[in-house]
Amino acid sequence: MHLGKFGYFLDFLAIPPVLVFFLYLLPYELSLMGGGVGAAAVAAGFAMWTLVEYCFHRWLLHEWPWLQHLHDEHHQDPDALFGTPPLVGIIQISLCVFLPLWFWEPVTAAGLTAGMLAGYLTYISVHWATHHVRNPRWGYLVRARRRHMLHHYRAGKTNFGVSTGFWDWVFGTQHLRTTHHFQH
Ligand SMILES: [Zn+2]
Ligand SMILES: [Zn+2]
Repeated sequence: MHLGKFGYFLDFLAIPPVLVFFLYLLPYELSLMGGGVGAAAVAAGFAMWTLVEYCFHRWLLHEWPWLQHLHDEHHQDPDALFGTPPLVGIIQISLCVFLPLWFWEPVTAAGLTAGMLAGYLTYISVHWATHHVRNPRWGYLVRARRRHMLHHYRAGKTNFGVSTGFWDWVFGTQHLRTTHHFQH
């Protein structure tokens, strides 16, 4: 969906305070043991996000007709400010991860939610950078840009992971070699 500048960057501004809020929920029962559980939950949430990112991009944005149609716009005009409407990601993560777990295990719920939000922020930041930082010097970004440009170049058939290529490697959709020089 075309968002305009404000809509496109709103999540970049909105996620950090929400993330801090969930981290703030963590310490109230932190003994040494609780601290370890909280930190592990944040790390697990971050890792979980990378799989959600892969599945969402591969099977919903590229195969589910309604979302595919919206995502096609990004593939046709990669540098324009198309994206998921702001706050939708934050609300979905809060409702689907935090809320159901909160009644069962509050530390795990807050930690997983904070980790997933950090993953989501990483994803939108890296995706923006792959299209708009033309000559990255940081090795991670060089690889992310190459991977994602190949995703666009191959018409969305490979390299669905944006923040990491790990799940493409696991699911056999990784494609890293080309002689093509990318403009985007
Ligand atoms: Zn893209
Ligand atoms: Zn795509």
